[in-house]
Amino acid sequence: MIGWLRTCNYWPKCATEKVKPLNTKHVDQFKRIIQRLEKVKELAGLDDKAFALLSEPQKVLEVNIPVKMDDGTMKIFKGYRAQFNDARGPFKGGIRFHPAVTYDEVKTLSAWMTFKTAAVNLPLGGSKGGVVVDPKELSDRELEALSRRYAQAIHKLIGPEVDVPAPDVATDPRIMAWMMDEYEKIVGRHQPGVITGKPLSIGGSAARSYSTAQGGAFVLDEAAKKIGLHKGATVAIEGFGNAGSHMALILQKMGYKITAVSDSRGTAVNCMGLDVQGLIEHKEQTGSVRNYVGGEKFVGSHCFEQDTDILIPAALENSITQENAEIIKAKLIVELANGPITPEADEILLQKGKMIVPDILANAGGVMVSYFEQVQNAYGYYWTEHEVLAKLEGGMRKSFEEIWAVKEKYQTDLRTAAYILATERIVQAMRDRGWI
Ligand code: NAD
Repeated sequence: MIGWLRTCNYWPKCATEKVKPLNTKHVDQFKRIIQRLEKVKELAGLDDKAFALLSEPQKVLEVNIPVKMDDGTMKIFKGYRAQFNDARGPFKGGIRFHPAVTYDEVKTLSAWMTFKTAAVNLPLGGSKGGVVVDPKELSDRELEALSRRYAQAIHKLIGPEVDVPAPDVATDPRIMAWMMDEYEKIVGRHQPGVITGKPLSIGGSAARSYSTAQGGAFVLDEAAKKIGLHKGATVAIEGFGNAGSHMALILQKMGYKITAVSDSRGTAVNCMGLDVQGLIEHKEQTGSVRNYVGGEKFVGSHCFEQDTDILIPAALENSITQENAEIIKAKLIVELANGPITPEADEILLQKGKMIVPDILANAGGVMVSYFEQVQNAYGYYWTEHEVLAKLEGGMRKSFEEIWAVKEKYQTDLRTAAYILATERIVQAMRDRGWI
């Protein structure tokens, strides 16, 4: 028995939905979360019932989505929506369009979101969605049809007070707008708060496009102060996409010196400091930071080995492993990417005395501004960019201090402290609701 099937009543010709049962097979990434919970239990204590509830998602929906292609054929795409825990508030999490999306991936990412929203004290739970597709292979019309049909397929599970999606890998404000429009057609009223990361014209928030990097910069600044790094400290950034390039610009404006950046095709280095705006233009023109004329001839493989004070992994999961952790010279590592450091590499870096600002804190600025977008949508009243940034700065700096206090209390690292605080908050909510 692997679940139950039902037909979407609003869309008779659509494929079947399958609600997966709990207790499905774990993959390695999910084991990391269980290991974190075990550490929380060891240091701070964790009730067995709470542990059990936080070891599985509340619900995962699997859908098969038929789309009429431009050539007249019909193609079926698989999609998911995982809802991990909503004890603290509506589920919250992005939707990714990627060929490697799996049931286990969305489940793991939904758990990550649950701990992230709790770590920075947002009144939200955690979820994640995805469709198995390479969007680059679709025309604009096919992409819109897929986005709308995915929204139809999951519409019973989402809503401003239920579960609020957002952009993730290869999805963007345009796709969020199509999904919101489709949802509003089904429910028959305006509901901008059903989704965040929308264009400004239909209820998006100011500052949302660079909020992840901006939030990361605020906590980096707090962490740098704790270890005596001053403005002017040098920074290497692995990954020069949306998060990494915004981070470079923001940190440069704050007075930090960006001396190395890399992308999937190469690295640009200048020990006197790179001109970030020039680098962004070079990347726009050539597709890579490689061969930037404002940089030095660089022969190494990536920017981990650069002699900088701060390293920011902002590319992929698992980029820092036990094979390359030893070469890292930076004193401070700020995880702008999700899960860039393997548990083995984490141990090596901590033993070497590095400070690591964990992903669930470092990149939470994105979900914090998503939450601000929900609040503005609920009020129908919109804040200026300045107002959003002031609230983001207050929220991120306060979250850092709260997690720092837990680190001091338990004499542990920042990652463990963030998980202890997040878990305590989720458990308190579950207890108050009478779930445990
Ligand atoms: P993106 O696709 O815009 O950028 C990724 C960058 O990484 C690209 O420049 C790519 O060339 C580079 N890259 C890929 N492989 C590399 C390698 N081997 N070495 C060096 N660089 C490499 O993605 P993004 O939106 O910037 O997201 C980056 C990370 O940040 C992801 O882990 C994502 O989950 C996380 N994140 C992003 C946001 C956001 O708002 N964008 C929010 C939360 C978390």
